[in-house]
Amino acid sequence: MNPNPNLIIFGPPGAGKDTQVEVLLKKLDIVPIETGAIIRDMVKSDSKIAEEIKNTIARGDLVNDSLMEAIIKDKLDEVPTERGTIFDGFPRTIKQAETLHVLLSFVGRKIDKVLFLDVPEEVLIERLTQRKICGSCGKTAFPHEERCSQCGGELVKRIDDNIESIKARIVNYRAKTAPIIAFYEKRGLIFKINGNQKPQDVTSELLTGLGID
Ligand code: ADP
Ligand code: ZN
Repeated sequence: MNPNPNLIIFGPPGAGKDTQVEVLLKKLDIVPIETGAIIRDMVKSDSKIAEEIKNTIARGDLVNDSLMEAIIKDKLDEVPTERGTIFDGFPRTIKQAETLHVLLSFVGRKIDKVLFLDVPEEVLIERLTQRKICGSCGKTAFPHEERCSQCGGELVKRIDDNIESIKARIVNYRAKTAPIIAFYEKRGLIFKINGNQKPQDVTSELLTGLGID
């Protein structure tokens, strides 16, 4: 694989995508586009629309496709031509996957591989109910950590990591997001990884899939 590919890291909520993206950023010349983090930043502002989106996220629902697509278009315009990208949290619907294809073609890019982290539902629920993130920089913490390993910030729970929202997100994943797997399988782009093992082992499977070590 070239050192600056265009990748998607795909999987259900709690699959461990953020953790693996961090590793890939050290190995490849790629710019991360993490829609969950972008949206959480957006809702920090004090406006009616921010309030609406905040409620959507808190319920575990998806933000509407047109807003998501506008965000992606903006972000893509900022990526220097010589660097690759990794999409984390996008696409989450077939419509988004189709639009991504078009937006990428505008900037002369195409997806090289979709890294699919597969994790059973009962494991996801367990991970998400226990998950904490950094209140300052947003990094996801590992279970044994007491402060953020990146900035020392205080760890907090996400507004959507409560049991009702977690269940809603998993239902949404099954209904709206999982069909994307077949969409990319048809195009020969899916590389499936067992996400239910130690983070280092997930990483090595993932690097094998990319042909790097
Ligand atoms: P998760 O842990 O559920 O994978 P993310 O941090 O990726 O969470 O996203 C958090 C929330 O942001 C989602 O539950 C959803 O409300 C919203 N969101 C993120 N990406 C998208 C997207 N591509 N389409 C619609 N909503 C999104
Ligand atoms: Zn931090």
